[in-house]
Amino acid sequence: MATYTPMIEQYLAVKADYQDAFVFYRLGDFYEMFFDDALKASRELEITLTSRQGGTENPIPMCGVPHHSAQGYIETLVARGFKVAICEQVEDPKLTKGIVRREVVQLITPGTVMEGKSLFEKENNYIASISQFSPQVFGFAYVDLSTGEQKVSIVADGFHTVLNLISMLGTKEVVVAVDFDETLCKQCIDRGVLTMSLENEVAADSPLFGSLCDDQLLVTSGRLLSYVLRTQKRSLDHLQAVEMVELQNFLQMDYFSKRNLELTETIRSKGKKGSLLWLLDETQTAMGGRRLKEWVEHPLLSRDQIEKRHFLVETFMNHFFERENIRDMLGGVYDLERLVGRVAFGNCNARDLLQLKKSLQAVPAIKGQLMEMTSDVTTSIATEMDPCTPVSSLIEEAINENPPLSIREGEVIKTGYNADLDQYHSASKNGKNWIAKLEQDEKEKTGIRTLKVGYNRIFGYYIEITRTNIHLLNDDRYERKQTLANAERYITPELKEMEVIILEAEEKSVELEYQLFIKVRDEIKRHIPALQRLAKQISELDCIQCFAKVSEDRGFVRPELSDDREVVIKNGRHPVVEKMLKAQEYVPNDVELNDREREILLLTGPNMSGKSTYMRQVAHIVILNQIGCFVPAEKALLPIFDKVFTRIGAADDLMSGQSTFMVEMIEARNAMVHATRHSLLLFDEIGRGTSTYDGMALAQAIIEYIHAEIGALTLFSTHYHELTILEKSLCRLQNVHVRAVEQHGKVVFLHKVVEGPSDRSYGIHVAELAAMPPSLIVRAKLILEGLESSDTNVLLYPPEPVQLQLFPGEAGESELEMKPVAVVEDWLAKEISELAVLEMSPLDALNTLYALQAKLKNI
Ligand code: ADP
Repeated sequence: MATYTPMIEQYLAVKADYQDAFVFYRLGDFYEMFFDDALKASRELEITLTSRQGGTENPIPMCGVPHHSAQGYIETLVARGFKVAICEQVEDPKLTKGIVRREVVQLITPGTVMEGKSLFEKENNYIASISQFSPQVFGFAYVDLSTGEQKVSIVADGFHTVLNLISMLGTKEVVVAVDFDETLCKQCIDRGVLTMSLENEVAADSPLFGSLCDDQLLVTSGRLLSYVLRTQKRSLDHLQAVEMVELQNFLQMDYFSKRNLELTETIRSKGKKGSLLWLLDETQTAMGGRRLKEWVEHPLLSRDQIEKRHFLVETFMNHFFERENIRDMLGGVYDLERLVGRVAFGNCNARDLLQLKKSLQAVPAIKGQLMEMTSDVTTSIATEMDPCTPVSSLIEEAINENPPLSIREGEVIKTGYNADLDQYHSASKNGKNWIAKLEQDEKEKTGIRTLKVGYNRIFGYYIEITRTNIHLLNDDRYERKQTLANAERYITPELKEMEVIILEAEEKSVELEYQLFIKVRDEIKRHIPALQRLAKQISELDCIQCFAKVSEDRGFVRPELSDDREVVIKNGRHPVVEKMLKAQEYVPNDVELNDREREILLLTGPNMSGKSTYMRQVAHIVILNQIGCFVPAEKALLPIFDKVFTRIGAADDLMSGQSTFMVEMIEARNAMVHATRHSLLLFDEIGRGTSTYDGMALAQAIIEYIHAEIGALTLFSTHYHELTILEKSLCRLQNVHVRAVEQHGKVVFLHKVVEGPSDRSYGIHVAELAAMPPSLIVRAKLILEGLESSDTNVLLYPPEPVQLQLFPGEAGESELEMKPVAVVEDWLAKEISELAVLEMSPLDALNTLYALQAKLKNI
């Protein structure tokens, strides 16, 4: 058996406990990795692979990164889904005989990063834990360690909702028990989770569980808490009590619907730009940005809550100056939630505390502006806001205005805050004055004008004399310390004495400053709950001002809430398309739905006429209403919907490898099974992904099912013109269509939705608009005419009729009935056979034909 050196043995013992992580093993100024970790890390981080003798015959692969620049490497690994165990020396090497004890002090994982490039300002960084209680029932707990927020939900309708939550929250890491179902783990990974972690311990009773009393959910939250505490190995004072999120209290939308509606990211680029969130985001603070995302993903169901937000938005719109002032003031508020997280976590520096102070100092003025709005609601928000003055005063008193990044190099604490520190500072300052004077005195004594006193970290203080002047030195007090190329450096007994005083004072002051900083930080820790309450209030205030600003800039109106299922939207707009169109005119449209004769609107119209835009517009207006914002319309009356289902667009679900049609059917099925009378269904071109009759049959059956069984308000768009006849048999279905007109043989879309079925299909015109080859268009028109008159002959290729007439001899094998043709003039046959028919426009062809006919007649 191989015998390794004690150090490698120690490394292996550590590694045994962290099999699934890179172990960064502290060795002097480096973090080293060995064996497989070294091979893998050298590839991932593009660092040089070396080796080290470890007691065995073959050298051990090794690679390392300097400890002062390790952060960047750790971030890269974590962002790629790896875990990194930081293994530090935990005793002073100077005081230890033999090998220094080392321990893992923190396990950094994708779900538990506290700083760096994996953290986005306006996004949360969630780690979740899942437990399964029965085939359909799951517990789902999640924590954002950077902000301290902890939540838990019970999911009663199957794993698909768990997956929805995973994607909605952008969950990076999921923690489960060892015996958790492997297929479900795989589905989590497919939904973008970077790493699955196992945790068998469940944290026992803790105040962090708050009012949570469900035993099963306690296990789910407890497992997550245990994992977080085990990996972070420190007290996490900023973790807030677990909050129970009742999913049924929010408008429900499945993953597909959210994606189709491009609420927080677009389908194509997966980026924020072009989404509803992008349009809305006028928040000024990072925590406001995160709250806005949460609001967009969780529209409300409670009429009181919705109306309260509407009222606030209106108040903010009516108080332009106060609102603009608040916006400016919020601009000076830093990310309180994450600052507080860093205070608790112990990785904040003096600059963080200054940011905290500045943020808190902005609060009284914000409160003042809220008071100016003179409404009961804004006054009560202002009254409830606690600017945590003891915290800002403490930082003001203690922390220097211009501190360095590090808290271990001094210059962090203000003069006047601590008497001992001031004494050290003055000792060192006096010492430095003394040295300045010494330089002057020595110059005079020696007569060397270029003599100077300097300092460096290795040799301390010295008197430097250039080589050309050394002969002038005639003093045995000078003791040589260092030789340079053109100078000698000396020390004198007095300088040595003063050096000790100064260095001691500096060393002590740096240590004392560090201790004082830690004390200040610990004092602030006591205010964490109040700071977190304030952060939440500010984030909500930021969302309200953002709604008011967007509503004003984009001409949104306050919607009225209807008690029965009645939708009346006057001149509604799709906010994102409207913004994208910029100078071009967006055509506003009305929408009217009710449970009398307009429960289902069957929307027909040419492709590209604006059907999906119309449907998305309705969904966006509904969602904007239920998140408490105003809506893009001239007037809107809306009920509160319980669920929204959409089937819009035909983007292939490449990620899950399913075909378009399968995705289409899964989405439709979700709606059929879960929708209620109070839901909104938006179906765009259902059945398109299969053959015509197949698709049409499915579309019709779906409409009939919704009409008879569900009764939800529905918009159903289709290019199957034939379905418009359903209006005759389904009493609560109405036809509407997007108008298009033909001008000079070309189709012009008016993007205007009007009553009744569309009169025809415009597919070929659209192909023409897309500059298809003219001959292809001519042929398509011919086929269409044939199909419309049930003449299947036109389907035969090559297209026969023209040639038949001209060259009867060649069509002998055709089964088509041939018309007898008289003798064809030679010249005519020649002229026709030389025509480049495929390159002619229909008009050219017509003109040529006209000319030939004229020639024939003249003959
Ligand atoms: P369809 O679903 O009928 O194929 P879309 O809804 O995708 O058509 O709309 C096609 C394009 O027409 C959109 O990208 C948009 O630029 C434009 N459009 C749609 N609705 C409107 C409107 N109401 N006003 C102006 N332009 C519109």
